[in-house]
Amino acid sequence: MKENIRNFDISQIEQIVLSMGEPRYRAIQVFRWLYQKGAETFTEMSDVPEKLRYNLGQKYTAKFLEPVQTLISKDGTKKFIFKLYDNNFIESVMIPEKDRNTVCISTQVGCKYNCVFCASGKLGFVRNLEVAEILGQLLYIRFKENIKISNAVFMGMGEPFDNYDALIKAIRIINARDGVNIGARKITVSTAGIVPKIMEFADMGWQVRLSISLHASDDATRSLLMPVNRKYPLSDLLDACNYYVSRTGRRITIEYILIDGINDAEKHLYGLGKISKRFRADVNVIPLSKIRNSSFSPPSTEKINWFINSLKKMGIRATLRDSRGSDIDAACGQLAGARSCACG
Ligand code: SAH
Repeated sequence: MKENIRNFDISQIEQIVLSMGEPRYRAIQVFRWLYQKGAETFTEMSDVPEKLRYNLGQKYTAKFLEPVQTLISKDGTKKFIFKLYDNNFIESVMIPEKDRNTVCISTQVGCKYNCVFCASGKLGFVRNLEVAEILGQLLYIRFKENIKISNAVFMGMGEPFDNYDALIKAIRIINARDGVNIGARKITVSTAGIVPKIMEFADMGWQVRLSISLHASDDATRSLLMPVNRKYPLSDLLDACNYYVSRTGRRITIEYILIDGINDAEKHLYGLGKISKRFRADVNVIPLSKIRNSSFSPPSTEKINWFINSLKKMGIRATLRDSRGSDIDAACGQLAGARSCACG
C-alpha cells in the first residue's frame, strides 16, 4: 500500500523532492496543493513538473478520508463516520455557529483511558491515527463539504497526548500559513490529564489552547470517574497545569461534566471554584450526554444553572457548553466509531 504523503511535514517533503532529483522549492508547491487547494492527486498539481508528479504518484497517495456515513443533526451539527484503510472507523464532528465553524477531530481509534461516562473508552484502544488520518478528517470537511473551518478542537475520539508526535505534526500543518492556516489560538487540545505530556506541550511555548478534562475536584471522585487519575492524581495534574500557565502565559480551560448525584454538590462546586481561581482558568460546564449502557444522567436544569451561577458569583468565567448534535450521537463523549455506525 502506498503511504499517504500527508504523513510528512514540509521538511520531510523537501527531502523526498530532493531525493527525486528536484530542487527544494518544489516541496512548498506540493505542500500548498495539499493544504490550500485540497489536491487529492498529484496529477492535478499543474505547476509541478510532470516527472516529479509521476514519481510522487508512484510512491505516495494524497487522499483525504472517505466517510461511510454522514449524519446531520436538527441543530446543524454534522457527524462524519470515516472508514480507515484497515476497516476501523472513526468519527469527526463539524459544529456550525453564527461566527465560526468548529471541527472536532479524533486522534485514536478507541481510547485507553476508559472514563466511565465516555463512549469512546468503551471500545478499548485499537491504534493511534496517522498524521494523514488526523488531517484527512479536517480536509474532507474543508474541501469535499466545502466548509470554511475557523476552529479545530482535538476533542474527538482518543487521547491526543497519547499520540503526541502525530498530534504535534498535525497541529504544525494546520497552523502553517502555507498549510491549512488556522491560527494557533483557534486550535484546542483537550486532555484527560497526561501529566508528562502537558509539561512537554507547555515547553513548546505555543499559543494553542489547552483544555483539561477535570470533571472532579477531589481524588476520590475523580478516580471513580477517570481511572487515569490513579496514575496522575490531582496534585500532579494541578502542578502540571501551573507549569503550563507560567510557561506559556496562557489561561487553561477546565472542562467539567455535570453528573447527577456524583460531582454536582456544594463541596464539589467549592473544590472546582478553588482550582479554577488558582489558575484563573475558564470553566466549561457540560451537562453529561447520555451514552448507551450507562446509568449516569445529567442533573436537572435548575441544578445546572445553580452550579454555573455559583461559579460566576465566585468571579469565575464559567460557560455552559450545550453539547451539540446529541440526536445523532455527535455530542461530547458519544463518539464511538464502528459501534454507532449502521454500516459497520
Ligand atoms: N481524551 C481527551 C479528548 C476527548 S475530548 C479528553 O479527555 O479531554 C472529549 C470531551 O468530552 C472530554 O472533555 C470528555 O471528558 C467529555 N465527555 C466524555 N464523555 C462525555 C459525556 N458522556 N458527556 C459529556 N461530555 C463527555
